[in-house]
Amino acid sequence: MEFYDVHTHQIFIEDSDDPYHSCIFDVYPLEFEVAKESYSRHAFSCGIHPWYSEESDNQMAYLSEIASNPRIIAIGETGLDRLKGPSFDLQIPVFKKHIELSEKLSKPVIIHCVKAWEELIRVRREVKPTQPWIIHGYRSKPELTEQLVKEGFLFSIGDNINVDSMQMIPLDSLFCETDEGEMPIRQVYLQTSRALNMNIEEFAERVAGNVRRIFPTLQPPKPYYPDEEEAED
Ligand SMILES: [Zn+2]
Repeated sequence: MEFYDVHTHQIFIEDSDDPYHSCIFDVYPLEFEVAKESYSRHAFSCGIHPWYSEESDNQMAYLSEIASNPRIIAIGETGLDRLKGPSFDLQIPVFKKHIELSEKLSKPVIIHCVKAWEELIRVRREVKPTQPWIIHGYRSKPELTEQLVKEGFLFSIGDNINVDSMQMIPLDSLFCETDEGEMPIRQVYLQTSRALNMNIEEFAERVAGNVRRIFPTLQPPKPYYPDEEEAED
């Protein structure tokens, strides 16, 4: 099995260099230079979190400069949050700047969305993006899931899962992540595969296929075989 963690902030945890998974580390524009030297095997998403969209002009300008770097394989996390951060008047323009970059550079977007689904769908319909939009940490209810699937979103699932929504998400629209959680990526895969009534090998193979399609430059990890003793390098 190959495990991919498409959204994690756990960049300073030693275990991130576990050879059995490949990560997309979420970094702030100003963190990228240092991070890219430290984690040569992994890749990055880079953006400004909606909580901090106020007075983000300098970070945004710097992001525009570095975003073409091939190690940055996604733009974000960016998005909309009704519960935290400045008003949507400030969040939406910053979100749209990320989308412009994504379209210009042909890189997918990693989306953070909290209680702002209407606004998110409105922006998507307005800009009609060509790039994949992946909603990270997805755990919303089935009715909304059905709508988001129709609108063309992709989904990344973390430790907190809405089992009832899982069956509605097409298998070619799914990814897994650890975000800031404690649950290791293998456990996230196991939990998600169980919610789908699939065995983990089969599920991991589908997710790996999605990663190869959406993030073709992300290096595969060392394949993991649960029965085999982990040999030393
Ligand atoms: Zn995150």
